[in-house]
Amino acid sequence: MTSADDLLSAAKTVGAAGLNSGTSGNLSTRLADGFLITPSAVPVDGMVSGDMVQLRMDGEQVGGGVRSSEWRIHRDVYAAFDDAGAIVHAHSPYATALAALREDLPPFHYLVGKAGGSRIRCARYATYGTQELSDAVIEALGGSRACLMANHGMLVYGASLAVAVALAIDVEVLCQQYLIARAAGDPVLLTDQQMDEAIDRFLRYGLPESDQ
Ligand code: 13P
Ligand code: ZN
Repeated sequence: MTSADDLLSAAKTVGAAGLNSGTSGNLSTRLADGFLITPSAVPVDGMVSGDMVQLRMDGEQVGGGVRSSEWRIHRDVYAAFDDAGAIVHAHSPYATALAALREDLPPFHYLVGKAGGSRIRCARYATYGTQELSDAVIEALGGSRACLMANHGMLVYGASLAVAVALAIDVEVLCQQYLIARAAGDPVLLTDQQMDEAIDRFLRYGLPESDQ
């Protein structure tokens, strides 16, 4: 499998999970000198690996068709965060609904910490495809690997495409659970200490208890 095949397969997984539909959202994966990103305005159902666009970190295009309109966000995330190996941007229903309220996802569940912080911040609104939106996303990510984007959607990154796709699905499910809890009442939030303990445990998650 080439990087383009991997990227296509990740884009289809995100679509099949209901996180993106039509031409919404975009994904990328880091290369030795730059990154490979999904094309602009191509529905995922009709996308082929040859549509993927290779960019260098200075934004120069190496080949391919029209790059995603959000290429600046992808470039800036790779430049700002060394641990970013892949990025998923989605207009998934629940994350986008919470982002339309311009609210952070607070620590209502310990799994919010899976993105690396005790809350998932909502980036301020800016027009899609602009440097202003990229600046807002970088600021909102801070020490976290996920953020919401006001009146737009969510963005996550991970060490690999598989990790980033899994985190995007986690964030969407958490936003769904939070909005259900909010509709039913006033969710009780975890304390900073409770979140720190959960985040610390994630480092050993999946290991035998004897190693914990
Ligand atoms: P692209 O088709 O240009 O990637 O745009 C989709 C999107 O989600 C813009 O924010
Ligand atoms: Zn978008």
